[in-house]
Amino acid sequence: MKDFQEKYNVFQSALDIPEPWYVFHHELAKEETLHIYIEYRSGAVFSCPNCGNTSCKVHDILDQDRTWRHLDFWQYRTILHARMPRVKCESCGKILTVEIDWARPGAGLSLFFEHHVMSLMVEMPVNAVARKVGEHDTRLWRVFKYYVYKAMENIDISNVSRIAMDETSRRKGHKYVTLFVDSDTKRLLFATLGKGSEVL
Ligand SMILES: [Zn+2]
Repeated sequence: MKDFQEKYNVFQSALDIPEPWYVFHHELAKEETLHIYIEYRSGAVFSCPNCGNTSCKVHDILDQDRTWRHLDFWQYRTILHARMPRVKCESCGKILTVEIDWARPGAGLSLFFEHHVMSLMVEMPVNAVARKVGEHDTRLWRVFKYYVYKAMENIDISNVSRIAMDETSRRKGHKYVTLFVDSDTKRLLFATLGKGSEVL
């Protein structure tokens, strides 16, 4: 019966979370938030986040749920919950919280949600995205910076001969973002807060 329920659990299918994790409960709260609870199967083994040893047993479980904002299901703001196990690795001896597939370590937003807001940021300013999805803009700026810096790490600038600088207002009048662009390819090389000589 349990297998049957899991198989036909729409949240289980939609989230597509990998073993040993599964959706064991969901709850629609009055304020129109959908809470989805995820847990791992008993006896599960995890990979060591430090050395990659794939057969670490659970050492203990963190007291507090970790939560992640996920893409809305229908009109409901959706929050994932899980109690995170820590493993004690027999290879390297470290005791660490396991890594999960649906969010970056330490992030309060799922990867799906982060990708959603990043795709909206292509179309509109960060503040507008924050209002649209009902998140604080500082939280979304952190996501933006993480992905922009990550993208910049992979940019090869060895062939860049001319750089253009452009200042753009992040919000009417006050904060500025300076963009450094390869003049030949129009590719963005670097973006930073501020303008003028302070940036240079
Ligand atoms: Zn290890």
